[in-house]
Amino acid sequence: MLTGVYSINELTLASWSNVLPSRELFSQSKKWCPKCFEDWKKNNQIIYEPIIWNFKEVNICKIHGVRLKTECPYCSKPIPVLTRTSRNGFCPYCRSWLGSNDITDEIVDSKHNSWKYFVVNNIGTLLKAKSEEKTNWSQDNIVSFLESLIEKTVCAFSRCFDIPKSTVSSWFGDNHKPILQTLLKICYRLDINIIEVLSSNELHVSLISEKDYNDISRENKNTNNSKVRRKIDWDNVEEKLIGIINNKDFNTSSVREVARNLNCNARLLYSHFPDLCKKISEDHDIFIRYQKIRKDKEKRQKVLEVTFDLYNQGVYPTRRKVEAILDSNISLRRKDNYSIWKDAVKSFQ
Ligand SMILES: [Zn+2]
Ligand SMILES: [Zn+2]
Repeated sequence: MLTGVYSINELTLASWSNVLPSRELFSQSKKWCPKCFEDWKKNNQIIYEPIIWNFKEVNICKIHGVRLKTECPYCSKPIPVLTRTSRNGFCPYCRSWLGSNDITDEIVDSKHNSWKYFVVNNIGTLLKAKSEEKTNWSQDNIVSFLESLIEKTVCAFSRCFDIPKSTVSSWFGDNHKPILQTLLKICYRLDINIIEVLSSNELHVSLISEKDYNDISRENKNTNNSKVRRKIDWDNVEEKLIGIINNKDFNTSSVREVARNLNCNARLLYSHFPDLCKKISEDHDIFIRYQKIRKDKEKRQKVLEVTFDLYNQGVYPTRRKVEAILDSNISLRRKDNYSIWKDAVKSFQ
């Protein structure tokens, strides 16, 4: 009654509890899309935290195609799901607004991150399901689907989907249902939607032969979620690394990004070429530092502009008035911004 929502059940995952275990389901701390917050504020909409941001496996905002934030950009702390001082859209520690339009660094392209988009789309579909649809969901459907997959051999299944054999066996015991993340992984590799698995008792994807399993493994080679081993041309990789280091422009990529572009694992790259990787990492650090300095400078410039503009319009540029005009990612709480403003104001007196 107090919330004004007819069925508060619909705001939770209570209706999933018979089908999916809560193990590993939610993150320990908050995640949020700064752009969503910012848009809602701009349009005078209610600031809230969609339940989909809470899922452990969800790391992007589908609407804006950006990585969800996990730390306050001002005090750098991760934010607990609920505290005594929680307020939607604000950091409970430093009280900063968590929305922002400045998301260019956070873009997650869908071509190279198909798994992330698969996860957010599939969980989204589950969340949107009407209660009538949910009556069809059952644990039995999941079990019969898995049984149809494992029909031949547990070994081949576990290898193909990269799930330990002991885990697979435990599903058919008494009380160990497969977790959401594992089901998603299987669905992703088979290119089916998880809602079909929950709702249909006739979804029998039979992998008849060893060859079928191998085909799926092979297809997965190109996806970023796969651990299938493949031969790497190390000479070619070394040449490319040296090329990156000798390039006269700023090196804008981290070792992790370089590894991704070369289609290999960052740890593996480090173990093969420790010195080259160290150099790339150092160059990248310099680039990041340079960028930060440049951005901070731009921000201070903006503070100065706004302060003078107000003054020239005959408005006394109080802290509150200046902050109201500035983009939300520029805060006078920051020491450098504050002193620029303070000095400007002093000069008017
Ligand atoms: Zn968003
Ligand atoms: Zn904070």
